[in-house]
Amino acid sequence: MSEVEYEAVIGLEIHVQLSTQTKMFCGCGLSFGEPPNTRTCPVCLGLPGALPVANEMAVHYGLMIGLALGCELAPRSIFHRKNYFYPDLPKGYQISQYDEPLCKGGRLGEVRIHRVHLEEDAAKLTHVGASGRIHGSDASIVDFNRGGTPLAEIVTEPDIRSAEAAADWLRLLRVTLRRLGVSDVNMEEGSLRCDANISLRPAGSEQLGVKTELKNMNSFRFIERGIKAELARQEKILRAGERVIQETLHFDPNSGRITSLRSKEQAHDYRYFPEPDLLPIAISQQMLDRAREAMPELPAAMATRLEQEHGLSAESAELLAFKDELGDYFEAAVREPVDPQAPPQALANWLITDLTGRLGEGQAPLQSRVEPGALAALVGLVAAKRISVGAGRSVLDKLVAEGGDPVAIVEAEGLGAMSDGDELAGIVAAAIAANADAAERVKAGNAKAVGPIVGYVMRETKGRADGGEVNRLIAQQLGA
Ligand code: ADP
Ligand code: MG
Ligand code: ZN
Repeated sequence: MSEVEYEAVIGLEIHVQLSTQTKMFCGCGLSFGEPPNTRTCPVCLGLPGALPVANEMAVHYGLMIGLALGCELAPRSIFHRKNYFYPDLPKGYQISQYDEPLCKGGRLGEVRIHRVHLEEDAAKLTHVGASGRIHGSDASIVDFNRGGTPLAEIVTEPDIRSAEAAADWLRLLRVTLRRLGVSDVNMEEGSLRCDANISLRPAGSEQLGVKTELKNMNSFRFIERGIKAELARQEKILRAGERVIQETLHFDPNSGRITSLRSKEQAHDYRYFPEPDLLPIAISQQMLDRAREAMPELPAAMATRLEQEHGLSAESAELLAFKDELGDYFEAAVREPVDPQAPPQALANWLITDLTGRLGEGQAPLQSRVEPGALAALVGLVAAKRISVGAGRSVLDKLVAEGGDPVAIVEAEGLGAMSDGDELAGIVAAAIAANADAAERVKAGNAKAVGPIVGYVMRETKGRADGGEVNRLIAQQLGA
């Protein structure tokens, strides 16, 4: 009997810290690493009698997010109290939105959006010491600076079918939010946090399986690894004929282990009720107009424009527009007046493959030592065959390490393409003589045997020779 194939079903819940001036319901400034508990007031400390007032800018940002995700914007939405106790929540409840959120429905790429709502962040708990011990006793310390920071929570439908697709989609969401300018979207610093809801079902089935929720993963790599680990865990359970238990889980990226945080809470556990201290959010025409006017060009539109304006392939245009600030870098580089000019598609290729490949994960090209103008100049030199592709790559190595001007580097290192055809022909002849075996095989029709001969020429010329020219000369001299 053949084994059942399982299909992954994943839905994401994303918390985005909004970069407003002040907190969600009070006038305290947002915190950027100030000393603990210096950005607080009676409202965000939850003192009795203090009254919240909703932050207009947070509502504005929420509407922009809703517009970017194609949501239906609710003319009227309300806040609810979500009741639970935790030391990072001094009121004993979080002010959130429940059954009347700011935005409903929508879509980004292939993934449907379920809803977007506004809420406040909790304070920050730090468990001190290797074993959570301080002064000989267990301790957690709390910093209320973060408490009350505005959050937009974005909830997707369970439309994602693999761990890689989850990470890719989250990248698209992040670049979209960055373009909107509504958040720092910095995962390490917690301004973008993602929970993944995960289940398996027999391939082809329409029914959803029992899901688990992986909490608070703070990098794309961990999200991908965490989801993969959880899918593997669930598959093992199902293949053993057992049942997945609905629970909230933690993925430890160091050990790769998944542990249970708590059994799944239900909405009724929170005793949601409408927040009596806040008015409903009523969206005026003026607020809608203001949100529409503030909308920048979004990644999908940027991809189409790059394709049309610069004649890029659809694939390259999408890569540039959807990945971090690659599109910005490309646009800066393509505008540079360099001579010889860099063909846009070649520039895109060098940026996507060569430059990005040389930078570490998480380092954006705009933050690297390679100025957009320098990359454009380098690609121009290669395209005009003033330097070989190999030499171009060495120049790029140098630019990544030290920055600088490609023309100066080419001169200083003598990397200019060999202009003297006779000199190159001589080196090819020497290469053939030094690799007589290979030459015989090439003559006998084995084209692949040419490798050692080309290698010899490239070593002798330090990569300055043009690859096409070398192959032409070898074929000519061997009469092949
Ligand atoms: P909960 O009440 O547990 O928060 P929701 O129905 O509100 O669950 O959904 C929360 C998230 O979980 C959404 O992103 C949704 O798409 C996703 N989700 C719901 N059911 C499943 C499932 N069976 N498998 C995977 N994800 C799911
Ligand atoms: Mg949930
Ligand atoms: Zn405050």
